[in-house]
Amino acid sequence: MATSSAQLASDRPVTSSPSVPPLPPQVLDRLLARVTTVGDRDPIEVTAPFTEEVLGSVPSCTAEDVAEAVRRARSAQRAWARTPVRTRAEVLRRYHDLVLERQEEALDLIQLEAGKVRAHAFEEVADAAIVAAYYARTGPGHLAPRRREGALPGLTRTRELRHPKGVVGFIAPWNYPLSMAITDVLPALLAGNGAVLKPAQTTPFTALWAVDMAYEAGLPEGLLQVVTGRGSVLGTPMIDAVDFITFTGSTEVGRSVGEQAGRRLIGCSLELGGKNAMLVLDDADVDDAVQGAVAGCFASAGQLCISIERLFVAEAIADEFTARFVAAVEDLVLSASLAYGGELGSLASRSQLETVEQHVDDARAKGATILTGGRRRLDVGPLFYAPTVLADVTEDMRLFADETFGPVVTISRFTDVDDAVERANDSPYGLNASVWTGDTRRGREVAARLEVGTVNVNEAYAAAWASVDAPMGGFKDSGLGRRHGREGITKYTEVQTVAVQRFVPVSRIPGLSQDRNARTLTAALKLMHAIPGLRRA
Ligand code: NAP
Ligand code: MG
Repeated sequence: MATSSAQLASDRPVTSSPSVPPLPPQVLDRLLARVTTVGDRDPIEVTAPFTEEVLGSVPSCTAEDVAEAVRRARSAQRAWARTPVRTRAEVLRRYHDLVLERQEEALDLIQLEAGKVRAHAFEEVADAAIVAAYYARTGPGHLAPRRREGALPGLTRTRELRHPKGVVGFIAPWNYPLSMAITDVLPALLAGNGAVLKPAQTTPFTALWAVDMAYEAGLPEGLLQVVTGRGSVLGTPMIDAVDFITFTGSTEVGRSVGEQAGRRLIGCSLELGGKNAMLVLDDADVDDAVQGAVAGCFASAGQLCISIERLFVAEAIADEFTARFVAAVEDLVLSASLAYGGELGSLASRSQLETVEQHVDDARAKGATILTGGRRRLDVGPLFYAPTVLADVTEDMRLFADETFGPVVTISRFTDVDDAVERANDSPYGLNASVWTGDTRRGREVAARLEVGTVNVNEAYAAAWASVDAPMGGFKDSGLGRRHGREGITKYTEVQTVAVQRFVPVSRIPGLSQDRNARTLTAALKLMHAIPGLRRA
């Protein structure tokens, strides 16, 4: 896959329209071999957002295919669960190396399917490698049996064991087609599970590449299955057959996934939308905050669940911040090139472009001020939208509270930090936030008052996201459960308590009458409460 098209500065006239290279047939065949079907299926075309040209097609799988995929994963899972965890971890170690070595292929696929610039695609490669390395190193420890306090000190030996759930289902979105396809799957596999992945309709080839690499890294054949096609068709049969479901996508679909999981009494993990705020306090370094805001608002053209859509700036520095921020936004290099250098890519689909346009037009019609942007950039590509900054946004505008999921941000001012915190928290979402200040203690204090799953102080999103030892996920309508860290792997296990009792039973000391037994146990309970160290005997 070669590179094509000129890189285009944001406001320079464009002379050549970009075109993307087709995926080589041998690559297509290798990837398509990873889709599970039990019959001929209608094709679904996959297009490149940079040009809307067809890249290839994947089968539109059916409920029957999902059942077969789960059956195959289940059958491979039995031997995998008996494989020592250290051996399983070796696969993740090799995965880390392979993703880095073969990154050019992944970067091309991500860019072609999702329309982002290469630097943003690289974030996904780095994420996949970081998560693989982290769980390869720490996973065996997270999964190891743990000794717990026994009922009676010295007499009850209690341990907690972690068993795999069985087969875990994954439904992934299109915005981070590599990260979101594989980084949750890796810990589930390490925990001894099989997996079935349903990537987004628009980005299946990147997901298939991620799966192909897992087999190349030594995963036993059959353990990780892929079904391609429509979420509305494949979601329910998948939830009906798996032992746990991990969903990343919109709050609306997430709610329905949660309901279906609830009916089956299987666990679920839901990573949903956000309307993330950045607070720039009066003692912030303005240049750093401007850089941070540009990175936070426009990564993957704002199609990032943790990207910033609301900027709250302290009145004292608001004029300076706004002027410098708008200038920096206007300097962004829009690009449809497969080479490095671009700073802002395309929207990933026509429907995404339309949502962005509707949000901005609605705000404009209701009196918002457009400080920059607010129009398509057809000169760069059919689905490009100019990076857009709005002020004077009011509650009646759609983008005030709804997630735009595009290169659009609103700026408003505050004089009192309490007021800024209250406005930031005034959202049904609670995914990510960012606080900028010269005083990190103040930063931590404000952070703890924000109702969100991750807060970045003097960063937009990358510090918390890449701190993979720490949990990540949403408060409120932004989700349920966490990825990363201990939670990110133990959620894929059933925990079992095994308590071994020695010498005397817990409830009744042999030979004692009921009242003497009660008095003796009362004395014992008081002693254990008075001397907490006894518990650990
Ligand atoms: P979406 O419509 O919910 O789609 C996400 C996935 O769900 C796709 O694979 C989709 O398949 C599938 N799906 C659609 N309808 C389904 C159904 N009825 N049952 C089961 N699965 C179904 O989300 P989107 O609007 O495309 O993606 C953007 C959203 O994802 C944003 O809200 C964003 O914030 C969120 N997101 C969150 C995170 C996070 O970590 N919190 C990360 C990335 C994105 P099809 O492609 O076939 O429709
Ligand atoms: Mg959708």
